[in-house]
Amino acid sequence: PRLVDSAADADDRAVETALRPKDLAEFVGQERVREQLDLVLRAARQRGGAADHVLLSGAPGLGKTTLAMIVAAEMAAPIRITSGPAIQHAGDLAAILSSLQEGEVLFLDELHRMSRPAEEMLYMAMEDLRVDVVVGKGPGATAIPLELPPFTLVGATTRAGLLPPPLRDRFGFTGHMEFYAPAELERVLHRSAHLLDVEVDAAGAAEIAGRSRGTPRIANRLLRRVRDYAQVKADGVITREIAARGLEVYEVDDRGLDRLDRAVLGALLKLFSGGPVGLSTLAVAVGEERETVEEVAEPFLVREGLLARTPRGRVATPAAWAHLGLTPPQPGGG
Ligand code: ATP
Repeated sequence: PRLVDSAADADDRAVETALRPKDLAEFVGQERVREQLDLVLRAARQRGGAADHVLLSGAPGLGKTTLAMIVAAEMAAPIRITSGPAIQHAGDLAAILSSLQEGEVLFLDELHRMSRPAEEMLYMAMEDLRVDVVVGKGPGATAIPLELPPFTLVGATTRAGLLPPPLRDRFGFTGHMEFYAPAELERVLHRSAHLLDVEVDAAGAAEIAGRSRGTPRIANRLLRRVRDYAQVKADGVITREIAARGLEVYEVDDRGLDRLDRAVLGALLKLFSGGPVGLSTLAVAVGEERETVEEVAEPFLVREGLLARTPRGRVATPAAWAHLGLTPPQPGGG
């Protein structure tokens, strides 16, 4: 797995519980979502009922699960965690819904990957606090309507646009999670370093933050790798130089590009003079599958303004030449 992947690996999961902020005040950044959510939760607490259903959209590793747990903590409610792909049949969802306690928070990750029948059951549960439990099979099957206690659904999705509008419309509040600014990631890193009992100075945290692709999960992962380096190669203290040298070992550059990203960009610049070149040709040039280039490397390169997808093919931007320290061919020149 890549060090700069935004999805959680086993190693991340082992530490993430310990690193999760426990309440809104501890949650770094995302000012807008935090302020909006704070209002939703305060209002619900004053009314003494369950909070409105909350939809969180944003890339992996930005803190959707963390916020769902904070919603439960702020409401002093229990939380149940599951995900769209884990719900194969509507019956799986019926079993979960029918066992919810009053006020409980149900966190449904990857909401856009739920089956259609389960989705329809969810509409009804959200709107009417009702679920039809099917008993028996075949022609003798009957649907028994079951009333549900008020609960709060927190749904997470990488893109709210992927959800069918009827489902999207049933959320009282939608929060869009943004990538984090470097200064925010520095705060995440200082906080994590403190919890992990690692010493990092301001410049060291800034160095790691700049390579973390706007994503707290990646920042925390890079911190752990740099901690190893600092411990083995130095006195354990993470300075700017130690962070830079440590991440050089792992081939994560000063902008957060890893070897694959640089291979794609390098091929585009050196072999195709910056493009335009077709995706398949580019993939062959770096010895990777088309999908790997398109889904794994490109999104970040596009986001960073290093590569553009055009109808005629992939094109490098001037920033790409600068980043790899190369000179673009002069127009009209050889
Ligand atoms: P996925 O969709 O892949 O499950 P996610 O958006 O749910 O990702 P989380 O699991 O909530 O992401 O966050 C990943 C890790 O990043 C957490 O363990 C937490 O330590 C850290 N983190 C996320 N957001 C913040 C934040 N705002 N402040 C501090 N730490 C954060």
